[in-house]
Amino acid sequence: MNKIPVGILGATGMVGQRFVTLLANHPWFEIVCVAASPSSAGKAYKDAVENRWVMDGKIPEIIGNLTVLAVEKDKEKIAEQVSVVFSALDMERDAIRNIENEFAALDVAVVSNNSAHRWTDDVPMIIPEINADHLALIPVQQKNHGWGKGLPAGRQGFIVVKPNCSVQSYVPLLTPLMHFGITKVAVTMLQAVSGAGKTLGTWPEMQENVIPYIGGEEEKSEKEPMKIWGKVQNGKIMPAAGPHITATCIRVPVEDGHMASVFVSFAKKPTREEILSTWKSFDPLKNLDLPSAPHPFITVFDEENRPQTRLDRMIGNGMGISVGRLRKDPIFDYKFVALSHNTIRGAAGGAVLTAELLKAKGYL
Ligand code: NAP
Repeated sequence: MNKIPVGILGATGMVGQRFVTLLANHPWFEIVCVAASPSSAGKAYKDAVENRWVMDGKIPEIIGNLTVLAVEKDKEKIAEQVSVVFSALDMERDAIRNIENEFAALDVAVVSNNSAHRWTDDVPMIIPEINADHLALIPVQQKNHGWGKGLPAGRQGFIVVKPNCSVQSYVPLLTPLMHFGITKVAVTMLQAVSGAGKTLGTWPEMQENVIPYIGGEEEKSEKEPMKIWGKVQNGKIMPAAGPHITATCIRVPVEDGHMASVFVSFAKKPTREEILSTWKSFDPLKNLDLPSAPHPFITVFDEENRPQTRLDRMIGNGMGISVGRLRKDPIFDYKFVALSHNTIRGAAGGAVLTAELLKAKGYL
């Protein structure tokens, strides 16, 4: 099979580096260009990330030798080479929105990690296992903008985004329990430093420390699930009205892995066994054969002291969601602890899986 040529916008950053490692040997996609800010442009990728390569393992050789292009100045040059760009930029939201629109107008499919387009009416915000049906917005979006006119399906530009990394640790666990009538949810997130684009080495303030505030994160953690659980109606997503979520987001001194402590109440109270068997059998992508989809999607631990960040964040190559400590709660009905890898499932890996879903559904 001819591989689909892809580019990475923001390839030098924390999430961009993760894209490089995940896509370097991908069976369906081939990195043909890497792009970043003017300060990295013109350098070989390996020189642009010298002293700031934070992934395990070496920089893949072929990618290391690519010349970094400038995202804005070289837009047409990038668009000529690729069918898809993965966006991992850290810029002003308006600037990111404009760049992503411009790539879509140049007939490139944009799969974005950024929050800039998450609340744009005709842009789907996808967790592939949960709301693949929202991809139905793509033709609406193309019509709204006049993107891809006259081109065959699969060659037209569009934008799809993925949600904030925090929500991946609890939305996958809540979704299959919806038929029990979830009434309210309280979640406390314990979030890794890589979520801020840093490491423990580059963020000395985090040594021996916990910081009880992450700007903008609690609002995203409470609101984004409503769009994910929403319905496609009249050319946009009508967000779900509930269940209401209250969130506290705390930065803790681990490199990777966002842990969630979750409390949940139900209208139709399930037994503990019903919850466990629902989680164990929830694997909506099992028949699609997508290279990055983890099977099982949800790994359930019986041990009292699991999941643990260091032991369990790489379950399913960093794409699996793990959960444990399911027990009754005297105020809510149940409580549990869940974990996902924030820069793999929560960022680059989630975007790669979304692109695989787009290919399987004929959008690429
Ligand atoms: P980062 O490490 O700071 O990397 C930012 C990237 O953007 C770099 O490649 C940088 O290029 C590029 N960039 C900055 N200004 C630019 C400009 N004017 N023109 C073109 N490129 C520019 O950030 P990150 O942690 O990877 O995060 C990237 C995005 O993903 C952010 O929006 C973040 O909110 C989101 N995100 C992060 C995580 C996570 O776990 N880290 C999870 C989900 C979503 P240079 O190297 O040349 O400056």
